[in-house]
Amino acid sequence: MTSAGRGPARPGPASGAGLASSAVPPVPISWPAGVSAAACLTFDMDAEAPILTADISSINRMTPMSHQSYGPLVGVPRILELLGRHDIKATFFVPGYSAHRYPEIVRRIAEAGHEIAHHSYFHENTIGMDEKTEAAMLDLGLRALSDTAGVRPIGYRAPMWEMNYHTPRLLAERGFEYDSSLMDSDHPYLLAVGETRDAGTLVEVAVSWGLDDWEQYAYLPGLTGPGVIESPAKALEMWVLELEAMHQLGAAFVLCCHPFLSGRPSRAAVLERLIERMKSLDGLWITTVGAVAKHTASLNLAPRTCPQPALPTDAYWVARPPD
Ligand SMILES: [Zn+2]
Repeated sequence: MTSAGRGPARPGPASGAGLASSAVPPVPISWPAGVSAAACLTFDMDAEAPILTADISSINRMTPMSHQSYGPLVGVPRILELLGRHDIKATFFVPGYSAHRYPEIVRRIAEAGHEIAHHSYFHENTIGMDEKTEAAMLDLGLRALSDTAGVRPIGYRAPMWEMNYHTPRLLAERGFEYDSSLMDSDHPYLLAVGETRDAGTLVEVAVSWGLDDWEQYAYLPGLTGPGVIESPAKALEMWVLELEAMHQLGAAFVLCCHPFLSGRPSRAAVLERLIERMKSLDGLWITTVGAVAKHTASLNLAPRTCPQPALPTDAYWVARPPD
C-alpha cells in the first residue's frame, strides 16, 4: 500500500516522547582463563505436565500419556548414559509435578552430578498469571524438588519460556540466582529485577526458539506440534551452525531438549554428534547453566533491564491490554 493521494504526512501532536526503550544492548562477557565461549545442554523433563495443561481431558488418553512418560522412563536414562560417557554435566529443568510422578529418576539425575533446576509445578500457562498464583506455583515447585531429591535449585526456566514482568522479582525474593527464559541476548547478563539494583538481580542466560527440540520433533495429534516431524540430521545441522557462530562470538549456546523427544534413538545419536562437535571447538566450556550463571554473577556487571514497552498516547486506534 502507498500513501499516494493522501497528501504530505503531518506530524502528530506528540513525537514519540516516552516511547524510546531504555534497554541497553547486551555485550560479551569475559570468560574464565582459557575459555572463549560456553555451551550448555539442558533438558526439560516435562513428562505429562505440558500436555495436561494444554488439554486436561488428555488425561484419559492412554497413548499421549505414554508418549510423555517415555521421557522419564526411557529418554532420561539414555541421556544420562550419553552424558556420563562423555563426562559432561547438564542442567535438567524439572516441573514439580514431574518430580512427584517420577522421583526415582530425578534422584538419579541428581546423584549423577547434574544440575536440577525449577521449571514450574504443573507446566502452567503463565501468560497473564497474577503474582499471588505465580508465587504459590514457584513455592510448590520448590517443595517438590526438595521433597523428592533434596534439591534447592538456583535456576528457573518458565514453562514455554513465558515470563511475566513480575516474575524476576518473585525469583529474586526466593533466592534464585538465575533465569533461563528470556531472548534478548546471545550473552549471559545481569538482570535488574526492579527499578534499582537494591531490588536485587538475577543472572539471565538467554535462550532462543531455534535451539529448542520441540519445534523440530513435537507431534501429538490434536494436542501439539506443527504436524511435521523433522529429520534429526536437519536439527543437527541447525544446532551446529548456531553453535559454531556463537563460539565465534564468545557467547553462551543453550540447547533445550525434552527427553520424550530427544531421548528417541536417532535423536539421541544426533546429540552425541553435537557433543563431539562441541568438544572439537577451542576454548568451549561445556557446562551447566548454573556454572555459567555463577561465573557471570562474579563479574560484578552493571545490571540490564528488559523494560515493558510503552504505548503511544496519541494513537487512539492502538489496542490497549485488558486491566
Ligand atoms: Zn517445559
